[in-house]
Amino acid sequence: MQTLPDRADVVIVGAGIAGTASAWYLAQRGLSVVVCEKGRVAGEQSSRNWGFVRQQGRDPAEIPLMMESNRIWRTLERDLNADLEWTVGGNFVCFQSEEDRASFTRWRGIAQQHGLQSRIVEPSEMQQIVPDSQLGKLGGIYTESDGHAEPAKVTVALQRAADGRGATFLTDCAVFGVETSGGSVSGVETEHGTIRAKTVVLASGAWTSRMLAHLGLTFPQVWITGSVARTTAAPPISKAATWAGVAFRQRRDGTLNIATRSADHDLTIESLLFGRAFLDDFRKHGRDLRLRFGRASLALALGRYSKAALRRELTRYRTLDPAPNHRQLDDVLARLKQAIPATRDVKLSDAWAGYIDMTPDMLPVLDHLDQPSGLVVASGFSGHGFGMGPIVGRLVSEIIADGQPSLDLHAFRFSRFAEDGPLTSDTVI
Ligand SMILES: Cc1cc2nc3c(=O)[nH]c(=O)nc-3n(C[C@H](O)[C@H](O)[C@H](O)COP(=O)(O)OP(=O)(O)OC[C@H]3O[C@@H](n4cnc5c(N)ncnc54)[C@H](O)[C@@H]3O)c2cc1C
Repeated sequence: MQTLPDRADVVIVGAGIAGTASAWYLAQRGLSVVVCEKGRVAGEQSSRNWGFVRQQGRDPAEIPLMMESNRIWRTLERDLNADLEWTVGGNFVCFQSEEDRASFTRWRGIAQQHGLQSRIVEPSEMQQIVPDSQLGKLGGIYTESDGHAEPAKVTVALQRAADGRGATFLTDCAVFGVETSGGSVSGVETEHGTIRAKTVVLASGAWTSRMLAHLGLTFPQVWITGSVARTTAAPPISKAATWAGVAFRQRRDGTLNIATRSADHDLTIESLLFGRAFLDDFRKHGRDLRLRFGRASLALALGRYSKAALRRELTRYRTLDPAPNHRQLDDVLARLKQAIPATRDVKLSDAWAGYIDMTPDMLPVLDHLDQPSGLVVASGFSGHGFGMGPIVGRLVSEIIADGQPSLDLHAFRFSRFAEDGPLTSDTVI
C-alpha cells in the first residue's frame, strides 16, 4: 500500500495525459504535487486514442494552443528521455465531398492568419503523400508540420519524468470528492484518507461532470465510444497520419492503427440531462453516431445523484473499458484494403475502445474557478486532447504558479456553459 501524504501544494485528480503533463510541469516549478488515479496511469482515453497530434482542422480558438503544443512535442522525446514514436509526417485529410473542400479552404485561411501553413492538395498530388493509394478524386488538405506518436508510451513517459522531479503518483486511489472550507478548496477525500491542499486540479476525463456535480457545478459532458484496431505489419505506406474515410497511422514496426469517425453513444444520465446542449453536434455528426444502452449506462446513472453511488462507481470502474464495435472495425479494414492495395494481406491483431468526453462546443475547460477558489479544471477534450496534452500541462502550471497563463484561455472558461446563447462547435473535423 502506498503511503498517503497528508498534504501537498497541489493534488491532481486523474493520471491521463492532462494530469501527468500538469504534474511534470508543476514539479519542475518546485511545487509538491500528488496525483491520485483511481485505476492505472493512462488507463482510460490517453492510451486508447489514435495518436494523431494535429493542428489541422482545429477550432480557431485551439490553433494557438496546438501550435505551441506542436513546438513542445518536437523536443519531448529528448526532454522526457523516452521513445514516444514521435513522427513528423504531417496530417492529411482527403476530402469526402465538395462541402469538405469548402470548409477546409475556409479553415486554411484562418490557420494562415495564425501563421500555420497548410496546403490544399490537388487530386494529382495525393500520391506524393500516400503513394500507390486510391484515396478518392477530390484532393485534400495537408499540414506538413503535424505529427503522431504512440499513446501507449507518452503518458507513462510523462509520469516517469514527473516522478523523477519529485511528484507522487498514487494509483488505485480514487478521489471521492473535493473538500472546501469558506469557499476555497481545502483538500481531497480519497478512498485511503484525506490529503490537504489549497489547489486541486480536476483532470478526471470522462468523470469530471460527476465530480463537479457533487460541488453543485454543472459541466455538460457526454461520453462517446470510439473503436480502434491494430493490424499486422504492412510494407511502408506513408508517414502521414491520414483521414480518408478511414483513419490510419503506420507505426515504426509497420503495423497500422486504424479507425473511423463513426462512434457509438452509450446512453447515460448525462445524455438526458445535457441532450439539448448537444443538438447542434447531433445535427452535424448524427449520421456517424449509433445509440447503445448497456449495463454500464444504468449503473453509471446513479453516481450523479448520490455520493455513495459515485464512490461505488469510482472503485468499481477503475478503468473504463468499453467493448469495441467489431463490425465497424471489420468494415474499416475492408475500406483500408480498398484505399491502400499494399495492405491487402494484413489482418486485425488487436481491437479496443475508449470513452471520449465531449462538451457541446467540442472545446475543453482550462480554467481556474472562482467558486470554490483553488479549483482548476482541465477536462472535456472532446476527442482531441492527446495532441494538446503537453501545452495543457504547461498552462495548468502557469495558472497555478504564475497566477495567469501565457496564452489566451477565454474560449475555455468554465462559465461559458452558464452564459446565454447556444454553444456551437467550429472544428472542421
Ligand atoms: C478512440 C479515441 C481516439 C482518439 N484519438 C485522438 C487523437 O488521435 N488525437 C488526439 O489529440 N486525441 C484523441 N483522442 C482524445 C484523447 O485521447 C483525450 O482527449 C485525452 O487523452 C484526454 O486526456 P485526459 O487526461 O483529459 O483524460 P483521460 O486520459 O481519460 O484520464 C482521466 C483519468 O482520470 C482518472 N479519474 C477520473 N476520475 C477520478 C477520480 N475521481 N479519482 C481518481 N482518478 C480519477 C481516470 O481513471 C483516468 O485515468 C481520442 C480518444 C479516443 C477514446
